[in-house]
Amino acid sequence: MRRGEALSYIRDKVAVVTGASSGIGAAVAVEFARNGAAVVLGARRRAPLDQLAAQIEGEGGRALAVACDVASEMQVQSLFAAALDRFGRIDILINNAGIADHTPTEDLSLERWSEVIGTNLTGAFLCARAALRIMKRQGVGRMIHIGSLSGQVPRPDTIAYAASKFALSGLNHSLAIDGRDHGVASSIYHPGIVGTALASDTRPRDPLAVIGADVAARAILAMADLPDHVNFVEGTMLPLSMPFLGRG
Ligand code: NDP
Repeated sequence: MRRGEALSYIRDKVAVVTGASSGIGAAVAVEFARNGAAVVLGARRRAPLDQLAAQIEGEGGRALAVACDVASEMQVQSLFAAALDRFGRIDILINNAGIADHTPTEDLSLERWSEVIGTNLTGAFLCARAALRIMKRQGVGRMIHIGSLSGQVPRPDTIAYAASKFALSGLNHSLAIDGRDHGVASSIYHPGIVGTALASDTRPRDPLAVIGADVAARAILAMADLPDHVNFVEGTMLPLSMPFLGRG
């Protein structure tokens, strides 16, 4: 079951992965478990979490499924309490839960704005705060936030999503400073278009214009599978053909 024998820092660590019911989060959970980490799976939908936990345990890994809305302070508290109760410590947080939105700015309701910010930014804050409290006590820990190219170069009609992802860079930077004297690393991963349910309606059909969720998960593993005193602060990954870096 355990592969990647040379990459051993993550083995026996405990990772909380939010948004683990699909896409990048599910792929990260599988990748981490295959490399020996125990994984705590958080998302709102219980059934896919249970299914994923069963799959991971079927492969010989360790997994705990906890239904959790990251926008709820109480549910986030319960997620981290359940993780501690089961595994006794939390070494890694993958702050991944997120929703996209494509609404022309002039039509975006305050309710929808608040939903996107509440999930992508406030949810990330609530999870990071809960993790930091535990990791500071432990004297060690690592967080990886899932940003986006939209947190660097936004698309039209995505004001709430882009604002939430730009804000994650500030959140990451602040956490990296708040954590560094306590052994807690904070980093951010900005993927380009990943082949998941998120924004599947706007995604290009060409498979070479899309990153597989399993490929994104391998990059996130590389950011996590490091000695505790090393922080891979920021990573950007995009399909080679993507018009992101500048004019042709
Ligand atoms: P998916 O839609 O497949 O996954 C999103 C995950 O977030 C689901 O597991 C969903 O689970 C969870 N989620 C959404 N809202 C909440 C909530 N309130 N509380 C808890 N969990 C929640 O998309 P991706 O895997 O692509 O997205 C993962 C992250 O990657 C997001 O932050 C996204 O912004 C980011 N990203 C994705 C890109 C892409 O092209 N796909 C590009 C750049 C960044 P549930 O519905 O069960 O709660």
